[in-house]
Amino acid sequence: MASQQGRHFLQIPGPSPVPDRILRAMDMPVIDHRSAEFAKLGREVLDGAKSVFKTSQPVVIYPSSGTGAWEAAIVNTLSPGDTVLMAETGHFATLWRQIAGRFGIEVDFIPGDWRRGADPAAIEAKLAEDRGRKIKAVMVVHNETSTGSTSRIAEIRKAIDKAGHPALFMVDTISSLASVDYRHDEWQVDVTVSGSQKGLMLPPGLSFNAISEKAMAASRANTMPRSYWDWQEMVKINANGFFPYTPATNLLYGLREAVRMLHEEGLDAVFARHERLAAATRAAVKAWGLDILCENPAEYSPVLTAVLMPPSHDADHYRKVALEKFNISLGSGLGKVAGKVFRIGHLGECNELTLLGALSGVEMGLAAAGVPHRSGGVQAAMAALESREEANTPKVAVA
Ligand code: PLP
Repeated sequence: MASQQGRHFLQIPGPSPVPDRILRAMDMPVIDHRSAEFAKLGREVLDGAKSVFKTSQPVVIYPSSGTGAWEAAIVNTLSPGDTVLMAETGHFATLWRQIAGRFGIEVDFIPGDWRRGADPAAIEAKLAEDRGRKIKAVMVVHNETSTGSTSRIAEIRKAIDKAGHPALFMVDTISSLASVDYRHDEWQVDVTVSGSQKGLMLPPGLSFNAISEKAMAASRANTMPRSYWDWQEMVKINANGFFPYTPATNLLYGLREAVRMLHEEGLDAVFARHERLAAATRAAVKAWGLDILCENPAEYSPVLTAVLMPPSHDADHYRKVALEKFNISLGSGLGKVAGKVFRIGHLGECNELTLLGALSGVEMGLAAAGVPHRSGGVQAAMAALESREEANTPKVAVA
């Protein structure tokens, strides 16, 4: 086994590494969550979250993993017997569908091959067909973490509008928020679901619903029983900076710091950094002679790259070798691509040099595990980063 000295390379697509600055911000005494001091923190994080979702509407914060926020979106707006439209983009879309099913929601699941995002034209066609307006919501995963494909949310919004359909629009941004451009208000999304442990660079444990007025009205009219996830109670008490039950105080300290860091860098710069690192990763994969699972370049994920293993090579064996020899964690294949792909996360606390270190680990791991590939991936990634740097640097005239 190689030395375990130095930092572990956590290159899974979330949870992502937590910056030292955030760890330090969370290293605080727990305070009384009913005090004036807490209310100040509460207001700051509730407002700060809005700036990241790009909304002026309420964002609620749950002490839960992302799955809780998925459930919250469903139980607040839908009832047993309702129909929703979803797209099979991968494992996470499939899991969200399962949760809806458990609450007695009928899901029209547009089939997919897990190699692209949701098709706006297919969504428009389904909605146009629905003359009785039975479909209550369109539910899409923005960044399908299991495949490395993004869905074009602005285009799906247009498709819903073109069909003139009144369905709610619900989007899972658990692995895209604060890594990929996202605009809750501008794209008229009704419920945006998210989580703390990816682009927000926090530990797991917080989840979010950003809620439009239309979704809030739907929740007031909805008779589905719910308690812990109920928006009404949450929003009422949040108005004063408090929570209806004990909040995850120290994660909120972390969230306050994360929002500061994102705005110091600038959200557009954060998104551009993710695009740059993703392009370099794809250059490495192509140089290795391996295939990227996502087949549509317009939908390549800036957050992660899923790589197909050559036939008869097991991705999990390869990941085990890379972990044991180089202390790097790569994402496993999930659901129907288990063992067939591995995923390289390049999100959150990640820059050129951490990425190149990670890609070195991937490349040396391929050699160590005997996976057929060409060398030179890291070199190709460096070239991709250099050419992008050049493109971004204004030319200075030499006298
Ligand atoms: N949706 C997406 C796109 C995800 O990537 C994940 C987790 O990775 C989830 C939902 C589920 O979130 P959690 O594992 O935090 O419950």
